[in-house]
Amino acid sequence: MLTGIRQMEMKEVPEPGITNANEVKIKMKVVGICGSDIHYYTQGAIGTQKVGYPFAVGHEGAGIVTETGNAVKRVKPGDIIAIDPAMPCHKCDQCLSGRHHTCRNLRFLGCPGQAEGCLTEYIVMPEDSCFPLNAGLNADHGSISEPLAIGVYAVKKSGGVKGLKTGILGFGPIGMSVMLAAKAQGSGNIFVTDKIDSRLGIAKKEGAIHLGNPLKDDIVKDIQGKEKHGLDVVFECCGQQEAFDQAVDLLKPGGRLIVVGIPEFDRWSMNVENTRRKEIMIQFIRRQVDCVQFSLDLMQSGKINIGNMITHRFPLSKTKEAFDLVASYSDGVMKAMIDF
Ligand SMILES: [Zn+2]
Ligand SMILES: [Zn+2]
Repeated sequence: MLTGIRQMEMKEVPEPGITNANEVKIKMKVVGICGSDIHYYTQGAIGTQKVGYPFAVGHEGAGIVTETGNAVKRVKPGDIIAIDPAMPCHKCDQCLSGRHHTCRNLRFLGCPGQAEGCLTEYIVMPEDSCFPLNAGLNADHGSISEPLAIGVYAVKKSGGVKGLKTGILGFGPIGMSVMLAAKAQGSGNIFVTDKIDSRLGIAKKEGAIHLGNPLKDDIVKDIQGKEKHGLDVVFECCGQQEAFDQAVDLLKPGGRLIVVGIPEFDRWSMNVENTRRKEIMIQFIRRQVDCVQFSLDLMQSGKINIGNMITHRFPLSKTKEAFDLVASYSDGVMKAMIDF
């Protein structure tokens, strides 16, 4: 549990039990560390969402079902499942219109003020959040399905990338998830930028046609040199103002800018002339909706291979080390996993 800024302790808590007929009790097997977990660890908050200590984070989990409520049908004890961390109310206007990711009463695993996270031995979740893993998939696939679903959703919201020239600015686990989803859907040449060379190395392995490091390269000039008419779609995946501006510069007229990154500042700014004259379409992304099963299917069919994403593993007892590593962006870390 987080106990302060960059502080973490192992604590004994009561074992949770099933209280509703639609609930599933899960023994965690693996949890991936997300950038948002790191924000809570190093800053104690994301925007207005402040951690009240002690607090368990973690929302990229997979586990084994140990018990089910009477009304549960889709999973049974012994099943290994992926966990969708979102617990919408299914009653509000957003839920009723199919936008349960923006549910007015959303509870989300490991989100302060909503629900404790899954960096804990047992959790209880509604059946709707449980996705049994089909043959060929293991708990790592289950855990990675959470960030991957965000990439799959971002590509879906972009209107599709088949045959298009695609830019991905920021190649952390979410940028990589966007790339895996874009490749699975037949994207044309993919241009990737990141400030960390080891991440560009992974992008190269994944088949990016161009790699740029904005700390050393003039990425706009370099990419324009290769694609003088500009890119069709650019995914901003790092939450940086400069990347937003680069995206606008890189896009062709009528191009689409998909903003996936979570900035640490309160307001984006944009160049009026460039965005207006080029008639740039801008789409913001809030997590994902209904893309977990599709992400699992893409991995099962081999259209998405996550072999290059998981770079580090730690036992639960070394969670703090894992968080310090991810927070430092060192040792070539992409995704670090906690094993139970
Ligand atoms: Zn996450
Ligand atoms: Zn709702």
